[in-house]
Amino acid sequence: MAAEKIAVTRETFDNVILPVYAPAQFVPVKGKGSRVWDQQGKEYIDFSGGIAVTALGHCHPALVETLKSQGETLWHTSNVFTNEPALRLASKLIKATFADRVFFANSGAEANEAAFKLARYYACKRHSPFKSKIIAFHNAFHGRTLFTVTVGGQPKYSDGFGPKPADIVHVPFNDLDAVKAVIDDHTCAIVVEPIQGEGGVVPATQEFMQGLRDLCDQHQALLVLDEVQSGMGRSGKLFAYEHYGVQPDILTSAKALGGGFPVSAMLTTNEIASTMAPGVHGTTYGGNPLACAIAETALDIINTPEVLEGVDLRRQQFVGALQAMDAKYDLFSDIRGKGLLIGAALKPQHAGKARDILNAAAAEGVMVLVAGTDVMRFAPSLIIEPADIEEGMRRFATAVGKVIAG
Ligand SMILES: *Cc1c(COP(=O)(O)O)cnc(C)c1O
Repeated sequence: MAAEKIAVTRETFDNVILPVYAPAQFVPVKGKGSRVWDQQGKEYIDFSGGIAVTALGHCHPALVETLKSQGETLWHTSNVFTNEPALRLASKLIKATFADRVFFANSGAEANEAAFKLARYYACKRHSPFKSKIIAFHNAFHGRTLFTVTVGGQPKYSDGFGPKPADIVHVPFNDLDAVKAVIDDHTCAIVVEPIQGEGGVVPATQEFMQGLRDLCDQHQALLVLDEVQSGMGRSGKLFAYEHYGVQPDILTSAKALGGGFPVSAMLTTNEIASTMAPGVHGTTYGGNPLACAIAETALDIINTPEVLEGVDLRRQQFVGALQAMDAKYDLFSDIRGKGLLIGAALKPQHAGKARDILNAAAAEGVMVLVAGTDVMRFAPSLIIEPADIEEGMRRFATAVGKVIAG
């Protein structure tokens, strides 16, 4: 019997995949560095980085080598056993950060879920079961489990799924007075992205971050930093909190942690970790040897002066090209972000055109992101070649010209 031929086209998507995404019409089949090819062999320059994930580009030789060698050695043991790559990766993350303890999971949402549960559990054990209030921010994004999406600051993403986890308060980002108005001794945590990613690429101000730290200390609350998007070198430092000189109590990392292989981590201190015990939290896949081996290689490469210092040079090249475009088309009200997490906010007269520009860019052969309806977002490989930035920006400018003129 001949095998049925399956049409692997964008049309098939509409028939077989849960309709929660609206992917591009073209289907990528191959990637190398910052270049991607589709089924027709058309080439794209990748400024999207799989949404800030492929921080070392596509199929980096060192990651491929680790994937192969660990893949031929040991993939999975469960947490009934520990494994060498997890112990090495945890030790290196601890050495590189404020943390003493690591919990591994498989996605940003799971790392945040663990972080929020830990913050509540710690408050319950050390203080009182009534110390459960979480303060979070409008437009924040923390993942799609019911808890994380409820802590996130866009109710449209958490409505319609039944009763939500309670005692979560949202206030405007970068507004310290708004936090002061709601924080009290029943607050267990403030949860914040140092740079709001999905919310429009908006960095926290220095005053805001320092203020949050002080308010947490005054009220014996924990400062939880969601660095799922801003971490792992994206900002030009290993983690964005280093820019502020403000230490978190709990930090989450995912996206670029595995360079494209699913893995995430929650980092915390000995004091907070000490309230946990076997059975209190867990995951089957989290911390498996294959994921941890790949993340260890990614961390070894990213956490070097060559890569981290290269981020700011590349940022200057991006920003320069965007400013030139702005001078020509009077396009952007703001070019912001940190490192290679770059947001370019469209002026009011171009409001709503971000998606059109993204589609036109793909047609010209460059993959970009949006953050909301009015912000173009770039989250390329941290080691993208300057020649790829130049060529990608040339294609992007052509696309912008077509949308603005059209
Ligand atoms: C992407 C993202 C998440 C969710 O990560 P998933 O791996 O999609 O679960 C959480 N927080 C931030 C800041 C993110 O950018």
